[in-house]
Amino acid sequence: MSEFRTRSRWRRRLPASAALAAGTAVLLMVSPAVAVVPQAAVPTTETPADLGRLADEAVNVVEVLLADNAELDALVATGVDLDHHVDQTEDGIVVHAVVTGNEVATLTQAGFTFGEVLHTPADAEARIDEREATIAAHLADNQEFAAAASFSAQSTVSDVKIIRADYYTSGENQVLSVEAKWAQGQTATNALTVERDSGPGTEIGSGGTQNITRFVDAGVYMYHRGAAQVTSRPDYVRITSPTGDVAVAKVNEWLPISGKDPEGPGYQKDFVTSYLTPTELYDRIKALAAQYPKISEIVELPYKTNGYRRKAQAVLGTANASRVGVDSLAWGHEGGNNVSVELANPGVADAPLTVTVTGTQVRVSLATNASGAVTSTAAQVVAALNAQAGTLLKAYTYRGNAGTGVVATAAPTALSDGLSAPASVSRDPHSVYAIRIGKHRDGSKLGVLAYAQEHAREWVPPLVTIETAERLLRNYAHDGRTKQLVDNLDIWIAPSINPDGGHYSFYDFNSQRKNMTNHCTPETSGDFLGRTSWGVDNNRNYTEYSLFDGYSGASASCTSGTYAGPSELSEPENRNVDWLASRPNIKFSMNLHSSGNYFMWSPGAYATPGRISAPRPTLAEESLFWGASSRILTAIKRHRNLAVTPARTGPIADVLYSAAGNSGDMLWYKYGIYAWNFEVGTSFQPPWASAHQETMEFSNGLVEMLRVARDFDTDHQRPTSSLSVTASATAGMVDLKFETDEPAAVFYTLDGAKPTYESALYGSAGIREGGETVTVPSGTTVHWFSVDARGNVEKNYKPDGNGKNFNKQTVVAPIG
Ligand SMILES: [Zn+2]
Repeated sequence: MSEFRTRSRWRRRLPASAALAAGTAVLLMVSPAVAVVPQAAVPTTETPADLGRLADEAVNVVEVLLADNAELDALVATGVDLDHHVDQTEDGIVVHAVVTGNEVATLTQAGFTFGEVLHTPADAEARIDEREATIAAHLADNQEFAAAASFSAQSTVSDVKIIRADYYTSGENQVLSVEAKWAQGQTATNALTVERDSGPGTEIGSGGTQNITRFVDAGVYMYHRGAAQVTSRPDYVRITSPTGDVAVAKVNEWLPISGKDPEGPGYQKDFVTSYLTPTELYDRIKALAAQYPKISEIVELPYKTNGYRRKAQAVLGTANASRVGVDSLAWGHEGGNNVSVELANPGVADAPLTVTVTGTQVRVSLATNASGAVTSTAAQVVAALNAQAGTLLKAYTYRGNAGTGVVATAAPTALSDGLSAPASVSRDPHSVYAIRIGKHRDGSKLGVLAYAQEHAREWVPPLVTIETAERLLRNYAHDGRTKQLVDNLDIWIAPSINPDGGHYSFYDFNSQRKNMTNHCTPETSGDFLGRTSWGVDNNRNYTEYSLFDGYSGASASCTSGTYAGPSELSEPENRNVDWLASRPNIKFSMNLHSSGNYFMWSPGAYATPGRISAPRPTLAEESLFWGASSRILTAIKRHRNLAVTPARTGPIADVLYSAAGNSGDMLWYKYGIYAWNFEVGTSFQPPWASAHQETMEFSNGLVEMLRVARDFDTDHQRPTSSLSVTASATAGMVDLKFETDEPAAVFYTLDGAKPTYESALYGSAGIREGGETVTVPSGTTVHWFSVDARGNVEKNYKPDGNGKNFNKQTVVAPIG
């Protein structure tokens, strides 16, 4: 595995066939140690294909892939601008260079190999747009809070409030994480000091103090936050703001580990021993279904992919104006790879431009002038090829160039599809498979969906799904709790949504993110040199809050890493997920990605300017997301005490970034599925020891999601609620907060009317906070009821009937 990864990683950007097709010397063997002297910048002949989009003079951050320290020294000696990132990997050294497109070309000529483009000027522009929009959107909130605190300077309202105080253990460490909002936080840069007690009943301050600092997102103050190691678990914390106002909060334990083992005696796990290609993943679930036919079956999803296949191609020539691009009409594996093209100097004066086709060998004899010099331009050669060899190939000038440059001669050059997977990997449109696990697979049971590898290079998430399928099937016979799940749920597991991209990632280009469909044209990098940039980002091609709806975080460029495709659901991979999600019984889902150790849900997109997010879940829905999250993350932690931190848990748009058209949003907004997203582990293709641990811990989490679903299904407990009333800052008014004993929505009226589902819905106070405060005149009569996420209504009240058994309370300011 390691040897394989090394080969393909180092080879991926510059296939020998590309260099040959370009009619140049093969540079792969040139040692930088003898070739570091930068040569004059030349057109990007040998520049790896996906670097071709870099502007000549604009500065980007790009990885440079180095074999050893000698190459690193040679690189430094060129005077190139490097940042501080020097990552020693098992494959060599990765550094980040801050370079222009011209510098990339020069350094590539000198023999250096570039990796990912990490940052471009367009990224920076987007950040600035976002920053301005965010200021506009959130400044008002901050001013409102500041005004309220100032207005109530004589009252009990503090200008600092504690949003969260979470204690957790991570490895050997005990940690306290605190988030608090200060009314002056937008303009004043003070840190806030958190005083801790040292346990129940102890003095605040006895556990020491820690500072938390402003969290400013895109120029807008969000809140103060910070985590610090502690030596005991505090019970309460206190913050005194710089103006002297005080807030006190009880500390929650984040992801507590109880002694109770959710896995029964003899529970078996640890079923994966290596990374698996998509072909192997499908073989694995087919074998499982064959072994356990009573409780599982294979389902072939309705849409085949476009296939791990490409037309054979070449780009002849070096200077853009004289380059000729050629594509076979046949797929590479169906004969396209046998086609070759030669651009020959006839060696005589006044020769005409002619094309001779012998079988699949195409020979262009170039025109010459009276002195015998070649005169054929790229455009002329293209026209001649299309006229005389049009049954074999299609020719074009380079990326929309007029093609007025005189071409260079080229030895017979084989066209290539660039695909190096063994023949055992099908080149046909590929079936996508899921394994359906459950004793009753007729749609009568609550459905749960887990799916992985929308992104091809993410090799660990598919293993999490395989491990989970194995645990369910192999523990069924002897573990009562597993039997409960399999007997009562309808579990769909799709280990690889994007098998074409997955195969390409394993065999051709490790960093492949997207599918393999080429939506580019000859004018837009559809040529051989652009081939690692093609494809649709399957996690941006869905129907809700997409690029096509005006949302942020996806691209219309066919070479972008987040290309949304030509239209919503244009890709078979996406139509398959849509088909899965449209099973009417599916209520919970997990979309498995890597990396970063995130756990997220909707909304996953916002629009700019304004940073207007897709609608937030109701307080009840949000409560269920958070409540289930703590269970799922605790299960993950049980494996090796890895804590997915509070800062990496929550709506995608809050904790990561906008991702227009992602699948989680489609499942939530279109189908009402409680749709979560894992970002597993710490890298796309970590060393196996890490990949194995990540598989074990996130499978724990996925199995726990099944338990959450089962508990949801058996929840017939009606919620109860209460109203807390406190004095308002304004005379004659009172502040109300509703509390519920489980995740539940509260609908209320203040005008004496009967509450219904049309009544006001009690909302959350803000991002990552609890319920809002409702301020009403003292003496108001409040009517309300609560309903849990399962639809159980408090006291069995019928909001659409004639019942009167809703809650009623006349609220008056407490004496004091
Ligand atoms: Zn991903």
